[in-house]
Amino acid sequence: MQSSDIGLIGLAVMGENLALNMESKGFSVSVYNRPFAGEEQVVERFINGRGKDKNFFGTTSLPELVNSLRTPRKIMMMIKAGSPVDEMIEQLIPLLSPGDIIIDGGNSDFHDTDRRVKELYQHKLYFIGTGVSGGELGALHGPSLMPGGAPEAWPFIKDIFQSIAARLEDGSPCCEWIGPGGAGHFVKTVHNGIEYGDMQLIAETYHLLKNLTGMDNEKMSALFAEWNTGELNSYLIDITSRILRFKDIDDTYLLDNIRDVAGQKGTGKWAAMAALDEDEPLTLITEAVYARLLSALVEERKKATERYGSEEAKIMSIDLNKLQDALYAAKIVSYAQGFSLMQKASVRYEWKLDLGTIARIWRNGCIIRSIFLQKITQAYEAQPMLKNLLFDAFFTQKIKESQDGWRRIVSEAILNGLAIPAMCAALNYLDGLRTVHSPANLIQAQRDYFGAHTYERVDRKPGLFFHTDWTGVGGRYHLWSIYSLKPNR
Ligand code: NDP
Repeated sequence: MQSSDIGLIGLAVMGENLALNMESKGFSVSVYNRPFAGEEQVVERFINGRGKDKNFFGTTSLPELVNSLRTPRKIMMMIKAGSPVDEMIEQLIPLLSPGDIIIDGGNSDFHDTDRRVKELYQHKLYFIGTGVSGGELGALHGPSLMPGGAPEAWPFIKDIFQSIAARLEDGSPCCEWIGPGGAGHFVKTVHNGIEYGDMQLIAETYHLLKNLTGMDNEKMSALFAEWNTGELNSYLIDITSRILRFKDIDDTYLLDNIRDVAGQKGTGKWAAMAALDEDEPLTLITEAVYARLLSALVEERKKATERYGSEEAKIMSIDLNKLQDALYAAKIVSYAQGFSLMQKASVRYEWKLDLGTIARIWRNGCIIRSIFLQKITQAYEAQPMLKNLLFDAFFTQKIKESQDGWRRIVSEAILNGLAIPAMCAALNYLDGLRTVHSPANLIQAQRDYFGAHTYERVDRKPGLFFHTDWTGVGGRYHLWSIYSLKPNR
């Protein structure tokens, strides 16, 4: 009787490659996919194709899949997130025994994962929600994995997960236990948000190079390749250099033949929504999401161009070192915001996230892999309770060194009508954070004027709230007096 180490449901791009990765590391894998996709039997195609002569066991029903696994059973789903995951869990529950483990490796909403962990406990089953990053090639050769959920299940899946994950130079795996409940999928959501931010910053840099310096694709490609040898070294900078010089079938540059409308699957939006829920100003990532939405307003963009004119390439000499500084500094702010969001959520949900380790497991296998992440690990190793990466000594120094160039680049872009929302958002965040007297006193006065929402005073202790009868007809207090110990929101 077959007794595979793990079962895998969903043989699309990610599932197929993860299954091959697992098998290549010596694990026996039972595979299953819904019986029909178009005309083909998916399992049969896989077993006779990429899975041929390997340690796979093809199954054609869920009972067959479950019965082919050694206990406690480990079943990993790599299927479309949302209701398909719930439907699959519902079908699996009656087939499983206490202690069995269901793993969801899709891009699920962390709220759903949290709920599923609780629901499966009621059936004496363990649920794991894991982030998987690295796309198709990562899944095959070594992704970055972010498992969270029922901690009781971790010892049973640790060996498989750490064996298939990417590795760092010292041999350590890019996979560690993240935390209970929806922690793994939350961290994956922030990872994807940071990915949106990195991509937007690189796209803005390309926009500036193209429109301010007039560099051609080959020169831009060479510049990104050069930057990739230094502190900006990362997967996304590397592929940008390759994309810029990639030729289409007619020998033109493929990039120039691609429509400028960005798609998205929603994880960037989830990161922005999570930030609003945690009262965290995740401005750069949110602007990156908005930039994609704005790019899709094709009709409105056409009308606005006709009405207001469009950006015009203006060849001038901009200091490329300053542009590199701007990109690097804005990237620091983006990660500072993302990590700050994880810290807030960790406290609220009691996940005890280890931020240094999270930065470490993102250093290989995943889309945002970069040498920069090593500095983040070092920052949290030095100060585990660091409130904001901008307060770490290394990043403080970097921001100080980059500020001048960053401001000049942003100013040139604005003066020339070039939209660089993420770079601006980053600078505004830094300036907002270092402002001693923000204009929020006026906001508070306005709120109290029209809505009696109360305000705190600079000459009284924080936590005492006052209200003024600004118009003389609005209440019983003539000038101001202590109103409450809680704000009237
Ligand atoms: P898709 O997201 O396109 O999902 C397709 C798979 O889901 C197929 O196996 C499909 O079966 C199955 N499926 C869809 N609906 C159902 C259902 N109701 N019941 C059972 N199975 C269903 O495939 P990917 O491989 O791209 O991604 C898998 C998961 O991994 C997704 O959650 C995705 O967000 C996530 N992910 C994807 C990455 C990527 O780079 N593509 C990277 C990281 C995570 P069928 O063949 O029968 O239609």
